[in-house]
Amino acid sequence: MTNPLYDTLFGRYAGKTTPFLHLPDGSAITHNDFLSMAARYAHVFRDAGVEPGDRLAVQIEKSPQALAIYAACVQSGIVFLPLNTAYTAAEVSYFVENSGAKLLICDTANETALTPIAQSAGAQLETLDADGVGTLSAQAETMPNRFPTVTRSPDDLAAFLYTSGTTGRSKGAMLSQQNLLSNAETLVDYWKFTDQDVLLHALPIFHTHGLFVASNITLLAGGSMIFMGKFNPDQIIENMPRATSMMGVPTFYTRLLDDTRFTKALTQHMRLFISGSAPLLADTHIQFESRTGHRILERYGMTETNMNTSNPYDGERRAGTVGMPLPGVELKITDSASGETLPDGEVGQIEVRGPNVFQGYWQMPEKTAEELRGDGFFITGDLGVVDPDGYVQIVGRNKDLIISGGYNIYPKEIELVLDEQPGVLESAVVGVSHPDFGETVVGFLVASNEVGPDLDAISRNVGESLARFKHPKKLIVLPKLPRNTMGKVQKNLLREQFGDLFS
Ligand code: ATP
Ligand code: MG
Repeated sequence: MTNPLYDTLFGRYAGKTTPFLHLPDGSAITHNDFLSMAARYAHVFRDAGVEPGDRLAVQIEKSPQALAIYAACVQSGIVFLPLNTAYTAAEVSYFVENSGAKLLICDTANETALTPIAQSAGAQLETLDADGVGTLSAQAETMPNRFPTVTRSPDDLAAFLYTSGTTGRSKGAMLSQQNLLSNAETLVDYWKFTDQDVLLHALPIFHTHGLFVASNITLLAGGSMIFMGKFNPDQIIENMPRATSMMGVPTFYTRLLDDTRFTKALTQHMRLFISGSAPLLADTHIQFESRTGHRILERYGMTETNMNTSNPYDGERRAGTVGMPLPGVELKITDSASGETLPDGEVGQIEVRGPNVFQGYWQMPEKTAEELRGDGFFITGDLGVVDPDGYVQIVGRNKDLIISGGYNIYPKEIELVLDEQPGVLESAVVGVSHPDFGETVVGFLVASNEVGPDLDAISRNVGESLARFKHPKKLIVLPKLPRNTMGKVQKNLLREQFGDLFS
């Protein structure tokens, strides 16, 4: 094989007029059309002097063209670097400088703001809008439909994906061809994807979930995707009868459950609903099953590793767990201080090893050395426990662990109690500094109705179910929890904003 990732995901479709992307307007893009588009982009990149191994950054709206840029990069050996569309110009500046990108592709609306940024970083700038129009497509029009695929080896880098920045500054995870390919192969098999699958795709494609998990799997299995710009319940409901599968973040599922049009009949043709990127509440899992008869399959992964664990396809999908390590992935729970492996049933840091684990953080050798052990195990930064049946449960992030008066407190345990309280829609528990205890517990609540929660009653209830050192010293009602675009609660923002409550 000249280029394992390209040949396996894309090249095999040369000349095939099977549908690949179904668009909301009813039109479809065939595999061959998609490949031609990618080849034309690859010519533009090469003519612009972007060489194999160079980085190409994109901050554009989701579109078939945006996905074809990924294919073009793989075909021409360029390292693909997609950026969150929510990032401001100042943030994009960091990523372009940090990655040393040779070319930045942005939306026309951001061209003025990003021109000086690209210039100072020494990157060229092209534009591409959500409708596929821009300076990139204008140049691509005159290019040939075929591009000689650049030879790559499995260890060559395919992408830099920056982490979501939930716990701090985003880090550029270097992913090789083999990292991506091995995970896609495992998941197609594990989740039984075939060429008969039609995946509802409403996730962003700047993140591992929508880009690699969803798109790579569909390409490898030979299926097609109903490709939507963003999550829109109307569009999802309209298209579900044509689909077989969906991948979503937990908010997709809670929003569908809030919609009375989302019925069992609507899901009749579906074989699989997958959730990940953030914890799915057990309650959502249960409600979803009682509404539709489907059990959501929850899995666990991250930018640095793609997917690590998954609930089984055929066996029991256990609510509140992320299932077992995928074939080929080793997982252990270790003591944060000593690094020693802990026995099953004890909470510790989750470490994983496998062909899916990334090559390190770009230009962060110290950070890489801290988190990626010499023996290949990656310290994920998540805390978890393995139950007697081998199901992994995530109890939170290491950075969110609260140490109060010498006791370890796992926010999740308190959140589960708070979520059950009358008038509470959801909660987030964080540790803030405290003169006596070092840190203490603060609970943030979002009301589920106009009346809102009765904070005194909640304090009493919590007192009955949790040990004293775990009781929130303060409960605060917020209109909503701060979340990033992947739906993850940004506890660092809560800590920043409320950090001096007790000082
Ligand atoms: P950063 O590393 O920059 O702080 P991030 O870790 O949120 O950001 P991602 O790589 O997008 O960036 O997210 C991976 C994290 O998402 C995991 O480490 C884990 O905390 C969380 N996660 C993913 N899937 C699940 C899941 N099913 N249940 C609970 N948490 C999940
Ligand atoms: Mg992370």
